Amino acid sequence: MTEEFDSQYDVVVIGGGGSGLSAAVQAAKNGLSCAVLEKESQTGGSSAFAEGHAAFESDEQKKRGIVVTKEEGYTAYIDYSHWRCDPAIVNRFVENAATTICKMRDELGAVYEDVTITAPEQPDELVTWHLPEGEVARIIQLMEADARRRGVDIFLSTAATRILKGEDGRIRGVIARDADGQDVRLGARAVIVGTGGYAANPRMVDRYAKFKIGERLINVGGPGNTGDGITMMKEIGAVENPNIGTLLMFPLMRDKTITSHVNNAGMQPYLWVDRDGRRFTNEAVGLNFGHAGDLMAGLPDSLYWCILDKSAIDRLVTKGNEVGLGIYVRNYEKLVNLPAEIEADAADPKRTNVVKAETIAALAAGIGVNPEVLAAEVAEYNGYARAGVDGKFRKRPQDLLACETGPFYAIKMETGIMISMGAMKINDRMQALDAKGAVIPGLYCVGCDAGGLFGESYQLTVPGSANGFALTSGWLSADHIAGEIRAGAL
Ligand SMILES: Cc1cc2nc3c(=O)[nH]c(=O)nc-3n(C[C@H](O)[C@H](O)[C@H](O)COP(=O)(O)OP(=O)(O)OC[C@H]3O[C@@H](n4cnc5c(N)ncnc54)[C@H](O)[C@@H]3O)c2cc1C
Repeated sequence: MTEEFDSQYDVVVIGGGGSGLSAAVQAAKNGLSCAVLEKESQTGGSSAFAEGHAAFESDEQKKRGIVVTKEEGYTAYIDYSHWRCDPAIVNRFVENAATTICKMRDELGAVYEDVTITAPEQPDELVTWHLPEGEVARIIQLMEADARRRGVDIFLSTAATRILKGEDGRIRGVIARDADGQDVRLGARAVIVGTGGYAANPRMVDRYAKFKIGERLINVGGPGNTGDGITMMKEIGAVENPNIGTLLMFPLMRDKTITSHVNNAGMQPYLWVDRDGRRFTNEAVGLNFGHAGDLMAGLPDSLYWCILDKSAIDRLVTKGNEVGLGIYVRNYEKLVNLPAEIEADAADPKRTNVVKAETIAALAAGIGVNPEVLAAEVAEYNGYARAGVDGKFRKRPQDLLACETGPFYAIKMETGIMISMGAMKINDRMQALDAKGAVIPGLYCVGCDAGGLFGESYQLTVPGSANGFALTSGWLSADHIAGEIRAGAL
């Protein structure tokens, strides 16, 4: 303990989500003293919502006969991003992600129930999604318990506000604010920043992302993900990754949960029209909800209406959906709650995002579009459905369902956000870099605060990438710090 700081640690971790707790456990295992600062009243962040994480050549894959090589993983990221990812960071992740699975299972007690994909009809998806029992929320519990057992101090409801860097360029510690508004000053040889990106900060969304839709976005991730780590790192000279504006967005109803069957009905690749009542895309884009999110973010008001008739509703109940949403609504799940839920929503005068009508003209009036425009779109679409050929967008025939049996329903889908990605520039040791590309000694950046794994969109074809990277980058950073401290470099 020094005069200047309340306590002194080898490592202070900012953020008690997936990346931060992984770092803390590993730091403690390496014999380092460690504190975690978490601004919310509990740990977990967005990681607590995740279902599973990616790995390549893991023994969980091998024992199930699943072959996804590291080479395939590496190539997938490179190809998908058109080389806009950072190959060194991709390589480090694919090389080490299987070790993360072993750590969670063998050292912490996680049980992996399945290794799978997210969307069977999405082309080229790799089988990388490792689903632990209790999802990632369970992994968070296990990591937190292990960290505490190993003596890590976890400060809840305590938000880091500043990272301190000395005149010699070395990291000295962190200032945080506790729930009573008191400053907490922690000295540190190294700081690991894992604050989960800026998805919950509309102003940062508008500053960094391609679409200026911060206020409209519906955040389903951690409320604490307001970009604090990015701000703090930039204040001490760290620089942004070129892909800092990358977001994982998806279609979502306002004021609904992601488990809602009406919400899931609105994601189905049937007939979608924009704010003005015009069909705008091949709705099969919805097979990859991230692509659908990217597309709709650029539409007028960043929304679309999914138009369904009675036969589509019946089909979703009896045959099941075409597109799920992770484990929240499974693929091919029968949407048994849909009829009751959609009728209640349509009858609720306070809810404006579900409209029911006996005719297309009345539906158009209900959603505020020109009835002639909507009627023409529906007529054209029904013609394609009868012919089995989408003359406008080449949608696959099985999703071309005629919309002609009333009553008709319109579900308003707006743009949801799960996470932002790609924030800060790091090297493959998870060290933050300055404008000259030099390492800032002792400053590490992990999870959604770190750039390099993704290009300009999230890669759902390697399912579990974000959480896999969060967990893996966490322990990798702690290992590197331990080596630097042993070598006398920190
Ligand atoms: C609904 C949903 C489902 C998802 N499913 C998957 C999935 O199946 N697979 C997958 O790979 N990814 C998934 N993701 C994304 C994944 O959860 C995240 O990308 C990843 O786990 C983020 O980890 P992180 O450590 O970077 O951030 P987080 O887990 O969000 O942790 C950051 C923490 O930092 C805290 N914090 C912020 N600012 C401060 C501050 N100033 N001081 C102290 N603490 C601070 C936050 O409160 C938060 O607890 C999903 C996301 C959502 C929202």
